[in-house]
Amino acid sequence: MAKKEFKAESKRLLELMIHSIYTHREIFLRELISNASDAIDKLYYRALSENLNGLSREDFFIRVEADKEKRTLTVSDNGCGMSKEELENNLGVIAQSGSLAFKKEQEPSEDIDIIGQFGVGFYSAFMVAKEVSVITKPFGSEEAYLWRSEGSDGYIIEETKKEGNGTDIIITLKDDTEEEQYSEFLDSYRLQDLIKKYSDYIRYPIRMDVEKSRLKEGSENEYETVTETVTVNSMVPLWRKNRSELTEEDYNRFYREKFYDFEAPLRVIHSSTEGTSTYQALLFIPAKAPYDFYTREYEKGLQLYASGVLIMEKCPDLLPDCFSFVRGLVDSEDLSLNISREMLQHDRQLRLIRSRLEKKIKSELLSMLKNDREKYETFFKAFGLQLKYGVYADFGANKELLSDLLLFPSSKAETYTSLDEYVERMKEDQKYIYYASGDNRERISHLPQTERLTDAGYEVLYLTDDVDEFALKMMQNYKEKEFKSVSDKDLGIEDTGETEEIQKENEENKELFRMMKETLGDRVSEVRLTSRLKTHPVCITSEGGLSIEMEKVLNAMPNAQQKVSAKKILEINRDHKIFEKLKDLFAHDSEKLKEYTELLYTEALLIEGIQPEDPVDFVEKLCNIMA
Ligand code: ADP
Repeated sequence: MAKKEFKAESKRLLELMIHSIYTHREIFLRELISNASDAIDKLYYRALSENLNGLSREDFFIRVEADKEKRTLTVSDNGCGMSKEELENNLGVIAQSGSLAFKKEQEPSEDIDIIGQFGVGFYSAFMVAKEVSVITKPFGSEEAYLWRSEGSDGYIIEETKKEGNGTDIIITLKDDTEEEQYSEFLDSYRLQDLIKKYSDYIRYPIRMDVEKSRLKEGSENEYETVTETVTVNSMVPLWRKNRSELTEEDYNRFYREKFYDFEAPLRVIHSSTEGTSTYQALLFIPAKAPYDFYTREYEKGLQLYASGVLIMEKCPDLLPDCFSFVRGLVDSEDLSLNISREMLQHDRQLRLIRSRLEKKIKSELLSMLKNDREKYETFFKAFGLQLKYGVYADFGANKELLSDLLLFPSSKAETYTSLDEYVERMKEDQKYIYYASGDNRERISHLPQTERLTDAGYEVLYLTDDVDEFALKMMQNYKEKEFKSVSDKDLGIEDTGETEEIQKENEENKELFRMMKETLGDRVSEVRLTSRLKTHPVCITSEGGLSIEMEKVLNAMPNAQQKVSAKKILEINRDHKIFEKLKDLFAHDSEKLKEYTELLYTEALLIEGIQPEDPVDFVEKLCNIMA
């Protein structure tokens, strides 16, 4: 029979696997057992939801068998089995497993141990095998098939005979070499250790025949060897165990294996609840955002078990979007096994669980913020953006939930401040929470509007993410303190009595400013004097709901159809000598005044980090004056 080639991706991973000098080859056993358990899960789920007769939970098991003479190790299950097409599709390709997609994201130089960290499943058998055979028969079918491969040069599939449904994976171990003793995987004790170490929580019995010696009947000193079938694993899923029985390492290993992360989680949330709804939840907060987290491809969700049976791999209804980064599972005794996806969405129990989890996640994050600041900042760097989107989304429905969890850089905080900390530090007479937006910390701190406030001892939040200002606008206030942009006309601080003076001066120079405004046309709505600037000659501020930063963000959106425009005001520093110059030009040279106005406007834009509309014109005007 002609050999079939593996699909390209599979071939690459296979080669990687075969040639890896990998020290933890042993994980192949875990992978095969986990596949066997999944196959039983699938059949058991069908048995319950379709009321299949003759299948009861006690009948399911996994079997591990070593044959020293033939050098084979067999992992069998009586699960769903595979049809010929399924064999072809499942074992001819491995693109689904996600590990290759991940590998591509990494820099080639980063030597990430993908085999150890990810479930690469079935193919890991080739780390120890010179040949792998799979004999399988689907439940309810009469036809059985054999799949066999010696590695990356391909595989064959042919019809065969098999009693009962399920799958046998038969591995012929590689020959021992001086460095590698593959025979260790034929040793009964070694196998039992491996099963206990990696597969203890598998919820079906993993059986092995073990040889035991016992006293011969009727004899006092003669022993005989008998073979006994034992169940090696304890079968209690990790989340059903008592927290006190588990170590950090147990949780971390479970998380890494189950959720394919190579870093330990930042926090583990293990809770079990009884009463109106009975469930166990085991949740993890990852240390890093997955590579596709901020894309449309990312799917949120928790694994959902009904009384220990997996009914859904990713149940999105258990998590609000703002906490979409949480991984984990929920096992509930109140859910019916054959509930459909559509029904789940409306299930009362599920909604109850979701709202409890939401509160739990928030309180865990808050406690991390209070008690483990460094960790929380790591968390926030990875997922803070999601929280901020969460404040803004759904018309602010979650702002109460999230506002305590936000962090911002500020003029007083070395790294970040929470809003609560900001409010704690507010000056006695301070009415507002001030903020300024810009590309980065450095730039914002030098904004003329910011300097004035920080010099007077007020703290200013630095908003560097596009979504920040939108989020604050949605919240409007925090602990009854209103958010206020440093560009706002009324900053609510005790002015040095200048305002009246400025008003007077604005009035006296009304005609000058009218001419300047005319020159700039629609680009500004007003030109006026200000006392908010220390050293800078001019600045641009905005009035109304839309700020200059928001205008930038909205207009940069790929689907922005109509450009929006903030109401901009050009403010002139009354203490700067340019003001005298402008008055002088107004009296003697109105043409030059127009040129100066254009230049000042562009300068103000540049300070805000906005490109001039016509850079060439700007440079020409500048040169005209220099020449
Ligand atoms: P993964 O388990 O991550 O999907 P694998 O490469 O381990 O990837 O397995 C590929 C597919 O082959 C599985 O998704 C499953 O459909 C099928 N499979 C593997 N082992 C078994 C088994 N023992 N019984 C039934 N199907 C299996």
